[in-house]
Amino acid sequence: MVRPSDQHATVTINSVIPRLLYCILLVMVPLTTRPVHARPAEQISSAMQISRDPHVARALEWLSRNTDWINAEQARITAIPAPPFHESERAAYVQKILSSYALRVSTDRAGNVIGELPGSQENQIVVLAAHLDTVFPAGTDVHVRKEGARMLAPGISDNGTGLATLVAIARGFHEANLKPARTILFVANVGEEGEGNLRGMRALVDEYKDRLKYVIALDGSGTDYITTMALGSRRIEIVVNGPGGHSWSDFGLPNPINAVARGITRFLKMRVPDSPRTTFNIGQIEGGTSVNSIPFRASIRVDLRSEQEQELERLETHLRESMKAGVDEEMAATRERGSFNSSGSQLEMGVHVLGVRPGGELAANSNLLAAVRNADTFLGNSSRLERSSTDANIPISIGIDAISIGAGGASGGAHSLKEWYDPTDRLMGLKRVLLTLLAVAGMSPADAH
Ligand SMILES: [Zn+2]
Repeated sequence: MVRPSDQHATVTINSVIPRLLYCILLVMVPLTTRPVHARPAEQISSAMQISRDPHVARALEWLSRNTDWINAEQARITAIPAPPFHESERAAYVQKILSSYALRVSTDRAGNVIGELPGSQENQIVVLAAHLDTVFPAGTDVHVRKEGARMLAPGISDNGTGLATLVAIARGFHEANLKPARTILFVANVGEEGEGNLRGMRALVDEYKDRLKYVIALDGSGTDYITTMALGSRRIEIVVNGPGGHSWSDFGLPNPINAVARGITRFLKMRVPDSPRTTFNIGQIEGGTSVNSIPFRASIRVDLRSEQEQELERLETHLRESMKAGVDEEMAATRERGSFNSSGSQLEMGVHVLGVRPGGELAANSNLLAAVRNADTFLGNSSRLERSSTDANIPISIGIDAISIGAGGASGGAHSLKEWYDPTDRLMGLKRVLLTLLAVAGMSPADAH
């Protein structure tokens, strides 16, 4: 139902405008309507209009009647382990389900499962994605228990809810023979959590970026928020290596722990702004072998976050410079103690970037935001805008409209062994996702009534 608006329409009503001027205006249009960051003007259909389409009505009804099947599918998916970097078994299962809904299903090199529903305008793509991975290591008991209305298992909500909703929406399209205008990719992607570093979404966006219009990431439960602001973060490990030695007989040799301590002291003098909110955390510190040995290695792991990319850059530079200055200071002390000789008494510092999540913000006038807001109004749902680090970071950071939303129902204990999910109100989430997706994907002309 996405209709490109007719940019010339306003001119035609002005019959009073001399014909010459009319021609000049038309000639000027390509020059004047395309500033560098212009969005193509288009109108999206309202959730009310969309829901009146008979195919959509059928899809909504299918979802309403089949929440038991969706809950059962969520339990089946959750019970297949998907530790970080080992999502393939769960991916194979999701691939099998999606394959039964007349989609072209494939797995890319990153391990993402992609179910393609071709649109009538195949040159434009909308992605509906849910991450496959959990934070739980191999060997974690992920079988699903029931307690009253609740389902309990590590990963049951994050991201069992997202994945179950993904396959439910794909099946809803199939059951209702619903055809989109833009091609929809139903994607179960790898690598969202922690050191996965969004690698699945990176690979996906890299592959499709030229045709990719919108990305909707389903993550966990709830319908009370829309993540439109991507929190940028960097995770950095700094390692200092030295010769090591005996605490008494080798006293004076450079000590990596001393160097790291000197570096940290400098780094902590940094003032970070409240706005844009910017944070740092030295989360791990390691090194040394025994109390009477000069250590040969010390390391720290630091998490840096900011609402603004520039601040993040500044913070990382400050961290690197502080730690380097700490090493230099320790070497200067070594020279002062007369313990420096050119071979074997040097410190070496290495910096490893463990993860980079680029930040950014969805434009306030984005059609994607309008679409989900509109669905909320139609469904009587209220939601707030949020800033977070999600799969949406990747498309947002390169100017592709993206959001991350919960897929309905209630949950608690995310990332813990006590995680639970209550599907009682999940229908609201299912409808919200379907209506939002249809608003930005549009329906094929054959489907429009
Ligand atoms: Zn998640």
